[in-house]
Amino acid sequence: MILREQLVQFLNQELQSDKIRDYCPNGLQVEGKAQITKLVTGVTASQALLDAAVKAGADAIVVHHGYFWKGEAAEVTGMKKRRLQTLLKHDLNLLAYHLPLDVHPTLGNNAQLGALLRAENISAVSQVEPLGVLMQGALAEPTPVQRIASRLEQTLGRQVLLHQAGDTAVTKLAWCTGGGQGYIEQAAAAGAQLFISGEVSEQTIHVSRELGIHFIAAGHHATERYGIKALGEFIARQLTLDVEFIDIDNPA
Ligand SMILES: [Zn+2]
Repeated sequence: MILREQLVQFLNQELQSDKIRDYCPNGLQVEGKAQITKLVTGVTASQALLDAAVKAGADAIVVHHGYFWKGEAAEVTGMKKRRLQTLLKHDLNLLAYHLPLDVHPTLGNNAQLGALLRAENISAVSQVEPLGVLMQGALAEPTPVQRIASRLEQTLGRQVLLHQAGDTAVTKLAWCTGGGQGYIEQAAAAGAQLFISGEVSEQTIHVSRELGIHFIAAGHHATERYGIKALGEFIARQLTLDVEFIDIDNPA
């Protein structure tokens, strides 16, 4: 068992959440019960995740995508009402870490994707803030992009979109999980031959063609599953809590 305040303090400190400017509040978003024994983690605080957490007997949920985004409607109606009602009715705590979880040097989404890509000499592209949002690294040997794409498909358990636009074999990679396709120009400027992100936009393909940098969109959900999973395993180890990662499938 751990007190809510202790858990929040522990996570805020580990993820340095007060040092990163974000589009949503990081840390405790919805207050629930004071004592926590069972914790559920997931990518997004969707209704399906909340329902699964209730079923699992959770006292707290920790996610990457929480609520209260900059620009979202403030009214508590419809879908938002139902989600908050589920949390409040069951006295469930909701904690969310967005950018702080993307950029954490070992547990972060980008760090985890770098490991899945088998990249070495990993570093943050220094021109992009917050540091760690756009990462770069190198493969041990020149590898055909088609092979990198197939390996990713196997690891992530889904199809990826590969747009080829340069030499067949590459060593220099850059990546940003989730909706990071807009960083493709910075990736090219940093010298990457292949840029990997979660999502794709129409214009991403034009940039890929015109700058001669290969591009892979591997899924927003699929590329951001690993940070929150790693964070949950870290919490279980450090705080000896019962932590369960629940994956709510999402093709996007
Ligand atoms: Zn995301």
